[in-house]
Amino acid sequence: MCAKLLKEIEREVTDFLSGLIRINTTNPPGNETPAAKYTAEVLEKDGFKCEQFESAPGRGNVVTRLKGTGEKPSLLLLSHLDVVAANPKEWSVDPFGGVVKDGFVWGRGALDMKGMTAIEVMTMKLLKRNGVKLKGDVVLAATADEEKGGEAGAGWLVRNHVKKVRADYVLNEGGGMAFQADGKNIYTVQTAEKGILWFKIKSKGRPGHGSVPGAADNAIMRMNKVVEKLGNHCSEIVLVPTFKQYLTEVAKEDKFLREDVMSLLKNPQKADQILDSLARKDNYMAEEFRARLRMTVTPTMIQGGVKENIVPSECEAVFDCRVLPGQSPAQALDEIKGLLKDVGLDKLEFEIIQANEPSESPLKTPLYELIAGTLREFDPNCAVAPVLLTGGTDSRFFRSLGSVCYGFHPVRPDLPYSEMQRTIHGIDERISIENLVFGTSVLYNLVERFMT
Ligand SMILES: [Zn+2]
Repeated sequence: MCAKLLKEIEREVTDFLSGLIRINTTNPPGNETPAAKYTAEVLEKDGFKCEQFESAPGRGNVVTRLKGTGEKPSLLLLSHLDVVAANPKEWSVDPFGGVVKDGFVWGRGALDMKGMTAIEVMTMKLLKRNGVKLKGDVVLAATADEEKGGEAGAGWLVRNHVKKVRADYVLNEGGGMAFQADGKNIYTVQTAEKGILWFKIKSKGRPGHGSVPGAADNAIMRMNKVVEKLGNHCSEIVLVPTFKQYLTEVAKEDKFLREDVMSLLKNPQKADQILDSLARKDNYMAEEFRARLRMTVTPTMIQGGVKENIVPSECEAVFDCRVLPGQSPAQALDEIKGLLKDVGLDKLEFEIIQANEPSESPLKTPLYELIAGTLREFDPNCAVAPVLLTGGTDSRFFRSLGSVCYGFHPVRPDLPYSEMQRTIHGIDERISIENLVFGTSVLYNLVERFMT
């Protein structure tokens, strides 16, 4: 692309993102409709026909499509329009001001993930303006509610308007940001994510006077055993294909980690020992690796007792369990109940709060190959590694339809990787204008090649 054109794109994508950040879509309540409307208006200027869907009043989603001949698979460019809360007092700029300064667009959502909405919208416009002859449909969907689980956004669209959004391939958030190893940029592609099992346990006892504890049966004491067991549980180590490939790439590129990672690959059953030693160099990384190797159970809330001198007959605790691809929330629950047999299952009541299946897409696909190839054109010395997220994204809704989903928002590390990560759901979230242009260039070239 010539310099004049690039300058124009730079202005357009920056203005669009700045405007989108100014629309406060903090979820809850979300209130994404004005953001969906704004996105539709910007697309309609280029002649797109957009459809807007509200899953509930104020919960807007927008979808548009460029038709292809049908000779190639279809592709969905997915993003979410809602953001998490931001406290203006903690920020150095107004998080909803759409501030552009020092070469960055600042504000809540700049990275997660209005910045990707912006490069996806720009990519759609460029495909149309350049009259690209598409061999498959390219769909864009910008949705509500991801930050609260996506049931009023992507989940709702999949349940109610599946024909509008189903595609063979999906590009979404969750990867693409590069980290550095030995001066080389390693771009991630999210190919898998853990599943969720949020559940509540109620322990039962028998009330009595606090001064004669032996005559009662204390539900808090029972819950204490439950929390101890589950919180310290080390589930079986499983090396899923995505994480295995990730470690292989890291071992190739990162001298600092090579030795530990190689022994981890050779001896996954000794992972805990190896990670204990890695933790002395980089604690966060070691713990993140550990969470990618097994199902985890974390006690997150607890409540019990009514008065100083009453032995409690009830105590409730909530647990956040995350399961690996290949496992299921139902299996996890069985494992958990098995651990609690000697605490007395007859005195424990289980309630499922939320359960999402884990998901993983294949690593060997034409799109994955093309992602790596396109990146190398823009950043010749780079490497690409697939990543397993310990959290979740809207990709799971589409993986359950059989789509191949990749998290890929290409971002160069023009701020240190850890600093960039900290701003997501944190303070002073921002993306450089250079990265908006880089992201648009990579995404446009990738889509153009994949679809023609
Ligand atoms: Zn997000």
